[in-house]
Amino acid sequence: MDLSFSPEDEAFRKEVKDFIAEHYTDDIRDQVSRSKNGYIDKHLHVKWQKSLAKKGWATPNWPVEHGGPGFTATQKYIFDVEMSGAHVPHTVPFGITMVAPVIMKFGTEEQKKKFLPDIQETNVWWCQGYSEPGSGSDLASLQMKAENKGDHYVLNGSKIWTSVAQHADWIFCLVRTSNEGKRQEGISFVLVPMDSPGVKVEPIVCLDGSPAPHQEVNQVFFDDVKIPIENRIGEENKGWTYAKYLLEFERGNAYSPGLYHSLQNIRKIAADTDIDGGKLIDQPEFKAKVSDIENQVRAMEFTELRIFSALSTGGNVGPESSLLKCRGTELQQACTELALEAVGSYAQPYVEDTLIQSNEPDVGPSYAKVIAPYYFSVRKTSIFAGSNEVQRNIMAKAVLGL
Ligand SMILES: Cc1cc2nc3c(=O)[nH]c(=O)nc-3n(C[C@H](O)[C@H](O)[C@H](O)COP(=O)(O)OP(=O)(O)OC[C@H]3O[C@@H](n4cnc5c(N)ncnc54)[C@H](O)[C@@H]3O)c2cc1C
Repeated sequence: MDLSFSPEDEAFRKEVKDFIAEHYTDDIRDQVSRSKNGYIDKHLHVKWQKSLAKKGWATPNWPVEHGGPGFTATQKYIFDVEMSGAHVPHTVPFGITMVAPVIMKFGTEEQKKKFLPDIQETNVWWCQGYSEPGSGSDLASLQMKAENKGDHYVLNGSKIWTSVAQHADWIFCLVRTSNEGKRQEGISFVLVPMDSPGVKVEPIVCLDGSPAPHQEVNQVFFDDVKIPIENRIGEENKGWTYAKYLLEFERGNAYSPGLYHSLQNIRKIAADTDIDGGKLIDQPEFKAKVSDIENQVRAMEFTELRIFSALSTGGNVGPESSLLKCRGTELQQACTELALEAVGSYAQPYVEDTLIQSNEPDVGPSYAKVIAPYYFSVRKTSIFAGSNEVQRNIMAKAVLGL
């Protein structure tokens, strides 16, 4: 079996590297290096996304008929590895990765024409209105109401933990359109402009203080908000089907390229850290921990390649996305624990200003300042997109048939 890359693949790798060298400019790099949760100023995110869109690479997972680049499985792998290795800004997922596949599969032709090009070009930002106070894991209990008035709906209620709602132009929401029958059969999927009268966004300040540009979660209130009936995706009361389809995309990411990047980073830190007259990277106990995680990442990578290569013909991940989400986020957390150990006492000073912009010198090496905030931020990954406990329930039922 020949596992080497072809000359064409290596030429593609060079093209990706050249693109990064040209478009990953210092202003974006600087903010990424200071970000504790991957978010940077909106205008810099948009600048990066637009450069990708111009090249035709903003939507690597989209089918060609909707403007995807038509990467082969190998090109997609190379693209992910190079982008993660360079630590470029992550794609804000709510438009490109989440609502777009739902519009492609269940939307009308008008909805596809209206929404997809702007999502691809990052002309509009989306956020996700699933969770409500009291409805997280048990999402089907959601109460936000949409009254059908013939040609429009009137929305009342609220959504919570809504990431980056403060920047969003649109929100996709699950709403209750019926209280009859099974709870899942009274839910619809609607698209709401955030500038509609009656929509209000309030930031949720987390333990870390969450100042701009890092502020992440919000509560969104809807008070007699009117939206046209055409803003509903698919059929009324069938929203649960569309919502589950979207979750496969939310959970079904490739984690291993980012995990390899984290391990590379840990090795660099450990090579720079003095301990017992030598370097941490040479300490057998630490080396064993790095190797252990690396082996698990390798196993994860093979699982991802197996699942994603089956997708190259344009399907969806299915309930196996829960497996990727569980293992991927557990390993993300393991990497942040090891990075914290490697950076040692320099993880302790937490100077918020140096994360944003400051003339204050860093305490310790410059890479140290984000390690602890990032460690804390990554605790969220086993909660959002459905907690890992709930993912295990899904795997037990839908994958293992227990
Ligand atoms: C940083 C962050 C960003 C988020 N962004 C968004 C967003 O943009 N849009 C959005 O709609 N939502 C968002 N969420 C919400 C997220 O989806 C929910 O937090 C998640 O689904 C868990 O729901 P909950 O917080 O209500 O916890 P609960 O459902 O109350 O769960 C509490 C605990 O009980 C456990 N548990 C619950 N049910 C079971 C069960 N059946 N079996 C075993 N254990 C169970 C859970 O695992 C958890 O440990 C975000 C959350 C976070 C932390």
